Amino acid sequence: MAPETLTATLPPDLVRLNARPASKGDAIGEAAQLLIAAGCIDPAYADSMLRREAVANTFLGHGVAIPHGMVEDRNLVRRNGIAILQVPQGVEWNPGQTAQLVVAIAAQSDSHLAVLRRLTRLMQDEARLTGLFTATDPSALLAALNEDQPSAPPSAPGRDLAERFEWVVDYPTGLHARPATAWVEAARQSTARVQIRHGDQVADAKALVALLQLGLRAGDSVVVSAEGEDAVAALARVRATITRLTAREQADAAAAAQKARTPTRGWTPPGALPAVAGIPASPGLAIGPIHVLQSAELTVPDQPVSLIEGGNRLHEALTLTRQHLKALADDTARRLGPSEAGIFTAQAELLNDTDLVTVACQLMVEGHGVAWSWHQAVERTANGLSALDNPVLAARAADLRDVGQRVLARIDPALRIGSMRDLPDTPCILVADDLSPSDTAALDMGRVIGLATAQGGPTSHTAILARTLGLPAMVAGGGALLGLANGTPAVLDGQAGRLHLTPSDEDVASARAWIDREQARKAEEEARRGLPARTRDGHEVEIGANVNRPDQVAMALSQGAESVGLMRTEFLFLERAEAPGEDEQFETYRTMLEALDGRPLIVRALDIGGDKQVPHLQLPHEENPFLGVRGARLLLRRPDLLDTQLRALYRAAKVRDTSGHALSIMFPMITALPEVQTLRAACDRIRAELDAPPVPLGIMVEVPAAAIQADVLARHVDFFSIGTNDLTQYALAIDRQHPELAAEADSLHPAVLRLIRLTVEGAERHGRWVGVCGGIAGDPFGAALLTGLGVRELSMTPRDIPGVKDRLRASDLSALRDAARRALDCETADAVRALDGTLEGGEA
Ligand code: PEP
Ligand code: MG
Repeated sequence: MAPETLTATLPPDLVRLNARPASKGDAIGEAAQLLIAAGCIDPAYADSMLRREAVANTFLGHGVAIPHGMVEDRNLVRRNGIAILQVPQGVEWNPGQTAQLVVAIAAQSDSHLAVLRRLTRLMQDEARLTGLFTATDPSALLAALNEDQPSAPPSAPGRDLAERFEWVVDYPTGLHARPATAWVEAARQSTARVQIRHGDQVADAKALVALLQLGLRAGDSVVVSAEGEDAVAALARVRATITRLTAREQADAAAAAQKARTPTRGWTPPGALPAVAGIPASPGLAIGPIHVLQSAELTVPDQPVSLIEGGNRLHEALTLTRQHLKALADDTARRLGPSEAGIFTAQAELLNDTDLVTVACQLMVEGHGVAWSWHQAVERTANGLSALDNPVLAARAADLRDVGQRVLARIDPALRIGSMRDLPDTPCILVADDLSPSDTAALDMGRVIGLATAQGGPTSHTAILARTLGLPAMVAGGGALLGLANGTPAVLDGQAGRLHLTPSDEDVASARAWIDREQARKAEEEARRGLPARTRDGHEVEIGANVNRPDQVAMALSQGAESVGLMRTEFLFLERAEAPGEDEQFETYRTMLEALDGRPLIVRALDIGGDKQVPHLQLPHEENPFLGVRGARLLLRRPDLLDTQLRALYRAAKVRDTSGHALSIMFPMITALPEVQTLRAACDRIRAELDAPPVPLGIMVEVPAAAIQADVLARHVDFFSIGTNDLTQYALAIDRQHPELAAEADSLHPAVLRLIRLTVEGAERHGRWVGVCGGIAGDPFGAALLTGLGVRELSMTPRDIPGVKDRLRASDLSALRDAARRALDCETADAVRALDGTLEGGEA
């Protein structure tokens, strides 16, 4: 729910001057009465505010307290509001802490920080604040606080709510952050209160940290219950999410276990060597001395700044970190898949824990620096999680510290990852207790040739990133690892999950021979990837990669990419505070063309809107962003964005491309012909201004209207690239990010295939070619069907390329055409998928 501001809505009857409550409880009761009388809260919320005091300290400092209710009781808030109780004599809030201004908060959403900032700003002005403690005119208080407003945090003692069901945790690795995030999202879709109880412990299902604090492990029995307006539907939704995730959790665990069971393919030393055994995390062999990373306590200096500055810096750091994590999740989802992207979505959710922010603000009010206060808040919460002696929670503590570190580095760049500073200059095998995903991603691959950690698991974020980096790694080696002496020679076997110590010359020679054999095998595999995707009867399909940055091109080529069929340029705009200018964009496109060395590059003009929001463009909020000003619609309204990008592109075409065909430009979210005509005219104008060569102009077909009118549009463009991700969401009316429905948004649905067929037919009428750059292009069976439907180019995430090429090379075009015809006649997506087993080169 969007935070509703309080601006100008604080009426005088929500202020009580000269109150004389006998106790903190009375003060909260009085303030709650004001909120009840004003229609802000249900009377039951008063009790919730009292319960909140038992689990968190709402005393902000400097005589100000901010009582508020439990997160799970937000449904008792009817509308956002704050009530102010002025207590000139003061009331003891906690031993040694006296409140003279009680600001009771009723909020349905997470605008906690906004009110805290307002209050901390006030506290900066001691004289004004003290004046408020005794002011006789409510308007002084109104003027001081007539601004934003907030919300509340987690956990409660246990009774089940009206509607309920029991469930035994059947996620093999327990409730970790990724599935828990999905639970939270499902619970938040309703105003009903939803809670999870394990034994005596109860957590609000809408609060991630509270859920994780339950520390649920496989086999634990829980009661999920709900109460409120749509409790039955809410419970059904949460139940569907919980049980739907079981298959994926079990599959992930089985895949990890499978990896763990195949150590035999690792290296066997000729002599008997002492070794530390762990769990294989990323294959490969590394030979070198070990370097034990002392888990350096990060020293965060306490440098007090003014509260205004501290509040602003924390707010900005949190905002930037959220944006960064969102961008990372988007990018990772598109490149690696939703499972890997979940790492970052879950981390972002951890930042929504209001207790973290409250504790940080309390510390700032006490006079501490912003970086120090934030670090303390994170450490205290993380230590609380680790202290519970539960491996699931310990992993979450690591995630919390990692995300906390991201925020810290935003507050003060000098505090960015300090732990790697003492690495030796020569390559080493890094041994550590655990590494955060950020540490792993930032590893200097010139100095670290392998990684062995005492903790962690094969599905941990660190292991996933090590595989992505191609760094041999083993996890869960245990505490013995940390006792090893720095410089001990070793051979790390990431495939077997072993760190062999003190190898003899003979062992090292054998390990080197093993590496050579592996390299030869890989080279052979690479050579096969380099072969064209030519069917057995000689039909060739162009295979492109979806790549956003020049530094990703080399990896795509090594996977067998022949071109870049989709460069999503909006990623140049995300993760930063301002839009890149013409020169910067030009440099990026030029470098991209250079990296491709004459191979084709299709650059998609900015596709902003929908799920890709760029805060610094300050676009208006839309109720339905997927159906709003998105892609080409935005470009047509923002010539500043369009012209800058086109100028950068035509300048790149001029420098790099004499033939005029290495670079193509494509426009997203086209719905109607006039859009194409206007965009084409803009291209012509800018090309003429720059005296640049012509480049092919294409459009993305991702709206059903464009597919149906493909014959009309084809006359005006040089090519089509079908964005099946969006085409599927618009054809099936399923939000592609919908937590519950997204799995049903199958791009092989016959309705989507018919739209693809229409697009191909329309294009063929005017001699245009059609590509597909949506996710289904990287599915070997999907690629086979698309080829049968007449698609000429397939562009996908690089790691999907080898599988697609193998599949097409094992097929006959005639059989694929036949399968495509049958698919078009199928009644359901399942029926289409069932055709897989009937095809040559297929699974069955
Ligand atoms: C698509 O919609 O299929 C596509 C490739 O574009 P994006 O995923 O960036 O929206
Ligand atoms: Mg799209």
